[in-house]
Amino acid sequence: MKKKISILGSTGSIGVNALKILSNLKDQFELVCLTANTNSSLLLQQIEKFKPKSICIVDLDSYEQIKNELDSFDVEVLTGRSGLLEISKRDNVDIILNALVGASGMEPTINALNAGVDVALANKETLVMAGNIINSILMKKGSKIFPVDSEHSAIWHCLLGEDFNDIERLILTGSGGPFRTRDLATFDSISIEEALNHPNWDMGNKITIDSATMMNKGLEVIEAHWLFNFKADDIDIVVHPQSIIHSMVEMKDKSIKAQMGLPDMKIPIQYALTYPRHIKTSWEGLDFFKMGNLTFEQADLAKFPSISLAYRALDRLGTACAALNLSNDFSVNLFLNGRIKFTEISRINEEILDNHPWTSNPNLSDLLNLENWVKEYLSKY
Ligand code: MG
Repeated sequence: MKKKISILGSTGSIGVNALKILSNLKDQFELVCLTANTNSSLLLQQIEKFKPKSICIVDLDSYEQIKNELDSFDVEVLTGRSGLLEISKRDNVDIILNALVGASGMEPTINALNAGVDVALANKETLVMAGNIINSILMKKGSKIFPVDSEHSAIWHCLLGEDFNDIERLILTGSGGPFRTRDLATFDSISIEEALNHPNWDMGNKITIDSATMMNKGLEVIEAHWLFNFKADDIDIVVHPQSIIHSMVEMKDKSIKAQMGLPDMKIPIQYALTYPRHIKTSWEGLDFFKMGNLTFEQADLAKFPSISLAYRALDRLGTACAALNLSNDFSVNLFLNGRIKFTEISRINEEILDNHPWTSNPNLSDLLNLENWVKEYLSKY
């Protein structure tokens, strides 16, 4: 029987790669629904090619642009944030790929897991915001999360077959982003174009900026905490500029397992969809005789204060991680819109982490209220 799948965020980088994978696995998957935020023209092409039963366009102006063209397809059309949330609540699929950007991905993940649907999770912000809530749903409903984030996919690989009591620590690798070797004195003048130019990975704008500030690695430490139940002290970061080792696990006897491959998101996306199988593909593999040296460095916390902020938030828990994540969503947008300097992203994030109305055990509505508080706090920019 074919596995039924919906893709939330099908026009982004992860969504587009996922559809490439599904075109090779037509005999194994049935595509039920696609959702997009604003890219209505690409969504139209995807509808034509993949013939989903339902689609949702979240942005209403984008819907208006293709409203008439949609009439020629036999497809159910939903719109707005409410349409997205409706799609995520449906239990007519086996798995949902959540490739949404930022905190907007949190509620759809919660809805799917509550409906008993497994989630292939590319939206790390879900776990950073609501790890506690998510884990209690997983216990209650028996639905599962399969990580798509390449580091967490690597750690998942490395943990398979191991006794968790035998694990000493998790080692997240990170490329260090485009500013690893740049002089800190020039960080104030970093332009949007420079920050969007990632050396190894081809990704969406938000995560590319997060890689440039290394907030991405900080968020991934928090994500790893909730996915694998390790304390902050037992999750380390190693900068590995070539992005060949995607992460590692150290055992109590000091044996280390690593997962390797070319930096291509199709690998972790496909594994999240086909687990426990590794299905044969035609894409390029790692050539050891061409790849050059693998090197490792410590992360520079003076250049990348976001990393320390993430550990601080994880120490504090409660609303701290959610506040940091929400602040980062907004401050990255402010930077991308030319409203603040690169270095102000982490300065604002620290301000909000330290000054937000902290509570110890937030529920979903507390988190939605916190989003409004952060938005209001940042309205001065
Ligand atoms: Mg990652």
